[in-house]
Amino acid sequence: MSGHDRERRAPGQVKEVTSLTNPVIKDIRALALKKYRDREHLFMTEGLKLIIDAFEAGWTIRTLLYAKAGRGNEAVEKLAARTVAAGGLVLVVSEKVLSAVTRRDNPQMVVGVFEQKTLPLDAVKPAKGDVWVALDRVRDPGNLGTILRTADAVGAKGVILVGDCTDPFSIETVRATMGSIFAVPIVRAGLDAFLAWRKGFAGRMIGTHLEGSVDYRAVDYRQGAILLMMGNEQQGLPESLASACDALVRIPQAGRADSLNLAVATGVMLYEIRRDALPLEDRSRS
Ligand code: SAM
Repeated sequence: MSGHDRERRAPGQVKEVTSLTNPVIKDIRALALKKYRDREHLFMTEGLKLIIDAFEAGWTIRTLLYAKAGRGNEAVEKLAARTVAAGGLVLVVSEKVLSAVTRRDNPQMVVGVFEQKTLPLDAVKPAKGDVWVALDRVRDPGNLGTILRTADAVGAKGVILVGDCTDPFSIETVRATMGSIFAVPIVRAGLDAFLAWRKGFAGRMIGTHLEGSVDYRAVDYRQGAILLMMGNEQQGLPESLASACDALVRIPQAGRADSLNLAVATGVMLYEIRRDALPLEDRSRS
């Protein structure tokens, strides 16, 4: 039985913890490892605003940790009350505990442990105008976090992780999303399952490729749903995925770089695809 399970027998409590040997603190520190995140289906996020956003978006909190300095802070105490009402555990902890949990010298005042949430592939039923992003074996947590944040910014419907990808619930990825982890649905799929699902996808799958035959600005993205397929950082798109695309587009480059960073290329593509959905705003008089 994990520390979390023991504590959950007495939910809705507020406790003070200063020791790194406390079983719940040990469990939370173990979430730095993917093995434990996968086993417990939990992940950690930092910062008051992000945790409030997570609550608003309907994510389930298990534990809220806050620094002793947060006592008397209205927003923190409100969050603690919401956590208790939701059956979670609240720990008031020392700075040393917060630093150890977040692996930071100057940790945020509040940390939340939430249940992971992903969508199954067959729940993805795109409608006209929808944009989904598929990532082939994305390896870098910073890239994945930035792509989730950008997908959120342009109003994409979600991100499909194809094959062996970096964990969207690692602390590095969650940090890089700046809160978008709570806003953008994530799907995980093996290559074969993805290719089988793609056959029934009612829309166009647009792949990006350094050898793409079409300039990305020459495609009209306005008809039907779009599935944007991005390749792995080192190897690009494999033939199996490239040949499943309706078009392979390239982003022109001048200069010596042989390719764009994956997250930058995704951002360029998403803003082009969403050009009409994000209309010009005249702020000159405001
Ligand atoms: N060496 C890899 C290759 O040969 O494809 C480079 C991969 S690049 C760092 C990662 C992904 O970003 C690519 O698979 C593609 O999806 C996208 N990408 C980067 N630059 C691009 C460009 N100029 N045109 C189209 N896609 C690009």
